[in-house]
Amino acid sequence: MSPSRRTSGLPQQQAAVVTARCLSTPVVFGIRMQHDSASTWSATWAFAISAERAAREGYTDTRLSGSFALSTGYPGCPGCGNPSFAQCFACHGLGCWSTTDTRWKCPACGRDQDLGGTIREMSAGAD
Ligand SMILES: [Zn+2]
Ligand SMILES: [Zn+2]
Repeated sequence: MSPSRRTSGLPQQQAAVVTARCLSTPVVFGIRMQHDSASTWSATWAFAISAERAAREGYTDTRLSGSFALSTGYPGCPGCGNPSFAQCFACHGLGCWSTTDTRWKCPACGRDQDLGGTIREMSAGAD
């Protein structure tokens, strides 16, 4: 029985930055996501960024799959303070979200949509 297993040396956790837009201000912001072993991306940080810089850094091309959660330290939208964010079903763009509104208008493509129930779990345990 050998407990030592050779890996490629890569850590289990990965981080990525995705871009999101504020619903009520022109602010564009990056969300830092931390990946855990259960295919969950946890949002750990949000910071205002210019749209040009986001494109230059490649943040706008980042696509993440899996489920999403908010870590307890997530600071909220830098534009309006919304505590969470949602993803558009149509363009897959991200925008800030109040967590209380069930209707959400995508700030990227303008589509009005109902938010599903799963995203509510994102704010669980934040208090
Ligand atoms: Zn906002
Ligand atoms: Zn959209």
